[in-house]
Amino acid sequence: MIDLQTHSTASDGTLSPEALVDLAASVGITTIALTDHDTVSGLRPAMARGRKRGVEVIPGVEFEAEWAGGGHMHILGYFIDSQDPELLERLAWLQERRRERAAKILQQLEEAGAPIQWERAEFFAGGESIGRPHIAQALIEAGHANDLPDAFERYLKPGRPGYVEKAQYSSAECIRLIRASGGVAVLAHPATMKKITREEFACVLDRLVTEGIRGVEAFWSKHTPEEMEFYAGAARERDLIVTAGSDFHGANKPTIQLGARLDGNREGEILRSLRTEADRAARAVGARG
Ligand code: AMP
Ligand code: ZN
Ligand code: FE
Repeated sequence: MIDLQTHSTASDGTLSPEALVDLAASVGITTIALTDHDTVSGLRPAMARGRKRGVEVIPGVEFEAEWAGGGHMHILGYFIDSQDPELLERLAWLQERRRERAAKILQQLEEAGAPIQWERAEFFAGGESIGRPHIAQALIEAGHANDLPDAFERYLKPGRPGYVEKAQYSSAECIRLIRASGGVAVLAHPATMKKITREEFACVLDRLVTEGIRGVEAFWSKHTPEEMEFYAGAARERDLIVTAGSDFHGANKPTIQLGARLDGNREGEILRSLRTEADRAARAVGARG
């Protein structure tokens, strides 16, 4: 079994990178990609644990790209060089924006009569990538919300008093950064781009292809069978790799199990294609010098 989309406490998952690898080993998963949002800080501990436990950990990252439509567009990077100076600089910028955004959210929450302390939000973030799930936990602790869905419903989703937009790079820039660090860029869970027709999706995907996207995560734990088939078909028509990930976040998304995706056991083919593509990207970076 493989799982190419997982999140740890380095972003908004609830298992540490080490615990995530331990869980993978215990349920028989041989390869995971750790794809935390806007950070690579979990990769080193996850890869070290992976070597001990016999689990291959593909170094990954997940960006949210600028997207004018409903929902959101996420872009995954696989086999990235987590020491790449430009990548690290761009991620540090996103982390700084996240902290500014969190401060603004807290200010708006206070004005809305739901004050929480910065220290508590930071505590739940674990000193790493701070986001709405951490603020939600602080809201619950302070008695302003009953549980995570309730905190988002009352305060944190678009249109609610605690909502603040997140800083993003364009899709072209996300893809460029991933490729420049020797990685392979893949469009994550396309169904989260809401309210677009299949024709509009085809146009978006064509644009992403010109920007350098190399795969589509058609097999995602929350896609319907029809969506999987459609996105896999759209990917194959464009000679893109069809990938598979659950989007595991531990207790922050309790319905998603590690390894949950329905790719019909195509994992050998998926990994081979991604590796070939990553080798190509690394050679291109090397050639540029
Ligand atoms: P952020 O990156 O700070 O905007 O937070 C995004 C995270 O919040 C993602 O992991 C989402 O799964 C989570 N999230 C978004 N909406 C909800 C919701 N209604 N209930 C629970 N979690 C949510
Ligand atoms: Zn997440
Ligand atoms: Fe995502």
